[in-house]
Order: sequence, then C-alpha cells, then structure tokens
Amino acid sequence: MYKRILLKLSGEQLQGKYDGGIDIERVKWIASEVKQTLGLGAQIVIMIGGGNYARGAQLSEGGAVSRVTADNVGMLATLMNGLALSDIFNHSGVDTRVITNIKADQVADQFTHRRALSHLKKGRVVVVAGGIGRPYLTTDTAAVSLALELDCDVILKATKVDGVYDSDPIVNPAAQRFDRLTYQQALEQPDIKVMDKAALGLAMDHRQSLLVFKLLESGNIYKAVESGDIGTIISVD
Ligand code: UDP
Repeated sequence: MYKRILLKLSGEQLQGKYDGGIDIERVKWIASEVKQTLGLGAQIVIMIGGGNYARGAQLSEGGAVSRVTADNVGMLATLMNGLALSDIFNHSGVDTRVITNIKADQVADQFTHRRALSHLKKGRVVVVAGGIGRPYLTTDTAAVSLALELDCDVILKATKVDGVYDSDPIVNPAAQRFDRLTYQQALEQPDIKVMDKAALGLAMDHRQSLLVFKLLESGNIYKAVESGDIGTIISVD
C-alpha cells in the first residue's frame, strides 16, 4: 500500500456534465472516493489543475494576452478550483485544507512545506492550488515537484482512459494499453501522451513513480492506493 500519495486532478475532471466550471455532484463523487481511500490510512495531497476555466498556452495564442498574464490567469483558475473543491470535500465529511502557491492572503493560506505536512499529520487532505506559482509551467510539472517536496510514494494521475496507450484509444480502437512503461519510453515515443516533457523529465531524474489510471470508475483511487494494480505504472526501469 502507498502511504502518502499525490493525486493530480485536472480542471476538466471537475466540470463533469458541464462545458466548463464546476459540477458539484462530480466533486462530491470524487470526495466520496477519497473518503473511502482515507479509510486505508493513506495521506492524500491533491494538485488541482485549472483547464476547466483557463490554460495559459491557449489564452496567449494570437499574442493579445501575454504568456505571463495568461499563465497568471491559469494559476488563478486553479485557485478557484481549489477553494471550491476544499469546501465541497469538507461538506462531504472529508477534512480538507487548501493552500496556495500564489499569494492570495484574503482567500487561502500560503503553501509552506511545514504547513502541508502539519495538515497531513492531522489526517487532512491537502489541496495545493496555484501550481508551482510561476509561469511557463503546468500543474503536471507542479505535481511532480510537489510530490518530491512532500516525499509522496507515488503520483496518481487521474485521466479519462484506463492507462497509457501506444496511440489515442479514443481515435484508434486498436490502440494497446501498457501495464508498465519507463520514463525513457514515454519521453521517446511521440504518440505516448502522459504528461508534458518537463514533468516526465523531473520525475525521471528523481525516480518518482507515476501511476496513470481512470478516475471515473468507483473504487479506482482506492485500488490504486491499496495495490497499485491498476492503470499504467511509469518508473525509471
Ligand atoms: N500554470 C502556471 N504555473 C504552474 C501551474 C499552472 O503558469 O505552476 C498555469 C498554466 O497556464 C496552466 C494553467 O495554469 O495552463 C492551468 O493548469 P493546467 O493547464 O495544468 O490545468 P489542467 O490541464 O490540469 O486542468
């Protein structure tokens, strides 16, 4: 069993039945999945994305919005998600705190290493918003950095499909799923889409293992934490 995990949730996973924003029913469902997993005695950190509101790369296309501004907007989007997620989790009986890597004193406590560990030791779920707090990065890279900083045993990357395939399984029905994969393979093969290269490179350099799994199946987070026998595991060798 993994004792401390970093769960990477994209903004899209919060939007559920809507085209953007937050579907409260979906987040309540995620809270119940997390609650079940906490029953194993696991500590859970969540890095939350912001793509349901804004992504810096898209917003800066065309040049009217600079990349730095666009990324700042993206980071603020993650903070909106983090605030809502944390309230919905608490409302669902999952003791949760959101801490942020961008300065926003009025709405959330600042991320510090010590604060994050203190919440975890009290059995709280820690939601980290604002990515890493700097532009030109995604919350995938921020998730790897945070998993290293908080000494997480594994990163669980929640996706729409049940692991990593050799090509897009939605487009190509003959696509093959990997049970295991090395970071080298993931970096070398352009058809394998897991995370951006910066995230993969950082994880590879520090031997941080990563498990890619399907979020929308009841019991999957639990299974991932309990046995790791689900989805695709990516490691150095
Ligand atoms: N972002 C950033 N620095 C970070 C993390 C995120 O500038 O450390 C910005 C970036 O513009 C990104 C946006 O925030 O596109 C939202 O994050 P992301 O695209 O990773 O969200 P997801 O796709 O996981 O919902």
